[in-house]
Amino acid sequence: MKTALITGITGQDGAYLSRLLLDKGYKVYGLLRRSASSDIIGERLRYLGIADRVQLIGGNLVDMPSLLDAVAEAMPDEVYNLGAQSFVKSSWQQPRVTTDVTAVGVLNMLEAVRRAAPRARFYQASSSEMFGQVACSPQNERTPFYPRSPYAVAKLYGHWITVNYRESFGMHASSGILFNHEGPLRGIEFVTRKVTDGVARIKLGMQTELRMGNMDAKRDWGHAQDYVRAMWMMLQRDEPGDFVIATGRSVSVRDMVQMAFECVQLDWRRHVVDDPGLRRPAEVHELCGDAGRARDILGWEPEITLERMIAEMVEADLARLRR
Ligand code: NAP
Ligand code: GDP
Repeated sequence: MKTALITGITGQDGAYLSRLLLDKGYKVYGLLRRSASSDIIGERLRYLGIADRVQLIGGNLVDMPSLLDAVAEAMPDEVYNLGAQSFVKSSWQQPRVTTDVTAVGVLNMLEAVRRAAPRARFYQASSSEMFGQVACSPQNERTPFYPRSPYAVAKLYGHWITVNYRESFGMHASSGILFNHEGPLRGIEFVTRKVTDGVARIKLGMQTELRMGNMDAKRDWGHAQDYVRAMWMMLQRDEPGDFVIATGRSVSVRDMVQMAFECVQLDWRRHVVDDPGLRRPAEVHELCGDAGRARDILGWEPEITLERMIAEMVEADLARLRR
């Protein structure tokens, strides 16, 4: 039986990845940061019905001793470093926390693994936000980076320190450059989930308008279930490496909003209100990924379309609100 340690296990990807690994027969440990709201923090794991099947170890990515203890306790074959302050907009309000967790936290985790379980395979959750102001389209592993937020700058450090530990110490460390991925477990502050939750509330008569920021931005959205499968596939290869994971289709926020309203037969123009306060100090206008390397080397391909995912999210939000 293989053992995995996941940081960020209470997040969207952590929950889906846990289920995938449990289904494959892994013993799954997760790092849980202390919170006064710990009772609601395992909500995603409970939603998937797996909260009792994972072992949680207290710890924090900014606290090196706790990471050393966690790695020593789990003695993992595979480590998935998914923990982060992951919301781009908050990274301007909390740039220091974002840097401590999302950048230095990666170094802490790599060091903990190097010292306590040096043979473990390591996955770093890198992001398409690192491409930022894109140099060319679509983006692949050779596209230059140009981060546009404190979050993206922090992720870039995490990416390069992972590459550096691989090259310096021969660690089996891989970096997945994942484009936006969503699903019913996505945090409510991210645009897809904000929209599907808003659409469900409007449909149920709980609110009338949906306030939106920049609707011209375009993203390459995939489903988190497909993307956690790619993480696992990267660690099954004997050679570590870096892979772009994306669908190759870029859609505007406006078109995604229309798609969500159409799921409940409503006209988005009657409900969406432009809110300049929701715009960002610097925007990433357009992302579109080329996952050709992942397809050729890992045999990975996305299975769930954007339309199917948005419909699933609207349905899940309707069901949740009805309850
Ligand atoms: P998420 O839902 O925001 O989850 C983030 C996780 O990190 C949560 O479990 C959170 O714990 C944990 N965390 C935050 N600060 C921590 C700290 N100081 N110590 C330990 N854990 C901490 O993010 P996600 O969507 O699952 O994404 C997973 C990873 O992939 C993140 O690193 C994200 O930046 C990256 N990524 C995501 C996407 C995407 O589209 N989803 C795309 C590219 C890269 P709490 O529950 O206690 O808050
Ligand atoms: P990001 O790509 O990691 O920043 O993911 P988000 O889901 O937070 O944002 C995706 C895009 O949607 C960005 O270009 C935002 O500027 C845009 N956007 C427009 N309106 C909103 C909004 O109300 N909330 C969020 N989160 N994003 C919005």
